[in-house]
Amino acid sequence: MSLSFFGDEESSRRTLGIRERQILYDSAQKKCEDCSRDLEFSDVQVGHKTAYSRGGNSTLRNSVSLCYGCNKKQGTDSWDVFQRKQGKTAVIDRMRNMLTELTLQKLKDLAQKHGVKLKGRFHEGGLLNDDYYQAPSKARYVKALVGVVTEKDIKSGLSAMPTPGKTKRRRTTSYWSIF
Ligand SMILES: [Zn+2]
Repeated sequence: MSLSFFGDEESSRRTLGIRERQILYDSAQKKCEDCSRDLEFSDVQVGHKTAYSRGGNSTLRNSVSLCYGCNKKQGTDSWDVFQRKQGKTAVIDRMRNMLTELTLQKLKDLAQKHGVKLKGRFHEGGLLNDDYYQAPSKARYVKALVGVVTEKDIKSGLSAMPTPGKTKRRRTTSYWSIF
């Protein structure tokens, strides 16, 4: 059984619960994620990135906070198709490139700021190897953050990055020190 907030047992419902709606609303900064209009909590429409009728689950990960008009406009299009139809992919591609430029630590900070939670993956080692826990990769952070963060967020992340000259050199064990 999954203890995850995004657990499978949650996914067969048609819509989100009140607590999840609140999280969605907060992480969307109380706006429609399509037209960026400010929304009252009671006006939030939970849109699906992949439509329910096309197998999309009612999970936070598959949800977007939308105003009534945008939710209607999206119809059964997936979020990507909907954005593409409106000519928004150039923006998304740029965001993705900007995010890719960030360090893993910056991506983690952004994720935390926006309440995006990524789970690592647990690998069972079996008889011969130890179990290990693999932290979420940079690519997974980028994927989760595209469409959540704003360009301004990313830029503030970039400007706070250490300048190359000041970057701490990673300590390596000298070859000679083992003798
Ligand atoms: Zn809207």
